[in-house]
This record gives sequence, C-alpha cells and structure tokens, in this order.
Amino acid sequence: MIRLGAGPLDRIVAVGAHCDDIAIGAGGTLLSLCLARPGIRVDALVLTGGGSEREQEEQAALAAFCPGADLRLTVLKLTDGRLPAQWEEAKGAVEELRGRTEPDLVLAPRTDDAHQDHRGLAQLMSTAFRDHLVLGYEIVKWDGDLGRMAAYQPLPPGIAERKADLLQQHYASQRHRPWYDREAFLGLARIRGIECHARYAEAFAVTKLTLGLGTSGPATSAPAASGPGTSGPGTSEPVTSDLGE
Ligand SMILES: [Zn+2]
Repeated sequence: MIRLGAGPLDRIVAVGAHCDDIAIGAGGTLLSLCLARPGIRVDALVLTGGGSEREQEEQAALAAFCPGADLRLTVLKLTDGRLPAQWEEAKGAVEELRGRTEPDLVLAPRTDDAHQDHRGLAQLMSTAFRDHLVLGYEIVKWDGDLGRMAAYQPLPPGIAERKADLLQQHYASQRHRPWYDREAFLGLARIRGIECHARYAEAFAVTKLTLGLGTSGPATSAPAASGPGTSGPGTSEPVTSDLGE
C-alpha cells in the first residue's frame, strides 16, 4: 500500500448529479478536510433538485459536512434521471464551475457508475478538469456496481459515525429508501477500511494520476548516490491518501 500526500489543499470542488450524492460518496473526506483546514474553499455543484425541498436539505447538509469552510453551493433544476437529454445545460454548468475556481482536488462521481446521471457528470468533469486530481466517489445502489477501488481515504476516529449521523439528520426525504440507512453507510466504510488497514475509510476511483516522484528532497540533485531499493514504488498497488495533512 502506497501513501501519497496531495500537498496543501486550499480549494476543492465537489459535484453531484443529485442532492445527497456528494455527502454519501465523500462526506467523510469532506469532514476530514474541512476540520483539518479551516477556511478551505469548497465550490459545490449539484445538477438537480434546485428550488425544491431537496435543495434545502442539501444546503443544510453540506454546511454541516463542511464545518468552517468557505462553501459556495449551486443547486440546478435539471430533471432527475434525464441527464443525457440535458447534456448541454450540464456541460455549461460544469464549464462555468471550471472558470470560477482553480481547485487542488475535485470530488466527482465515478466514470463507471451504473447510474447514467452519475456517469454523465463524471465524464463532463474529467473533460473540464484535465489537469486536476479528480477522485471518483462511490454510491451503493441496487445495480451492484461497486468494485475494486484505487485510492483510499482512511477516516479519523468518529468521522464515519458523524457522517452516518448527518446523512440521517439532513436528508429526511430519503429515509424511506430501503438502502438509505446507517448500517449501509458504515458497512461500506468498514469494508473500505479493511482494504486499507483502517477502521473506516472512503474509497475513490482514479482515472489518471500524474506523479512527482523524485522532485523534492535532498536526493534529487545526486541520483547516482542512491543505493539499492530506492527506486520509486510500483504504481499498480492501491493508494492511501493523506489529503489535508
Ligand atoms: Zn445520485
């Protein structure tokens, strides 16, 4: 298992096709980041739910998931389940977001998510944010599309439980769904924790990653002095992130 630090994070972007996607997929990571870096700027975009009860839930929820952050949330009114038919509007919103901030990290759905709205937004994001670290979060669902993940964010003590509490507290409109419960959220976090030697974790897909191995530290000016075993780690192993440290 490789540990990678992303360096100081001052600005992040988080997007979701639906209200609650960001919180379910990356709520623990958002909590960890915002608690570690007070004042961090979070530009969030949600494509559907604008003007409805769901937007009110999302506004309150993301404020709770981003304590102390400079949170700027936009909730659009696109129709749930109809992203392909509203492609141009979604694309315009993503491009507007791209023009508004220069993030150190982007949290988005996975490009292989089984839900077409999630998948479509993921494709738009990886096109608009080409030179950024884009982590694709996962959302448990009936389709059974969870798989082997590449990157893990271990959650500090209490964060996974706090995430589960906030999800129950803020999204009253979703509580009737059979999969929307504390057991499901903590169960997945526990499994991802097992996979990265932590109690709880969130896992992310990484489509592309540029490494800066050997670009800092005293050894860079004298590579010939390196002894055996100092070559860079293999990149085929799962990555554990130290985001926010
Ligand atoms: Zn969704």
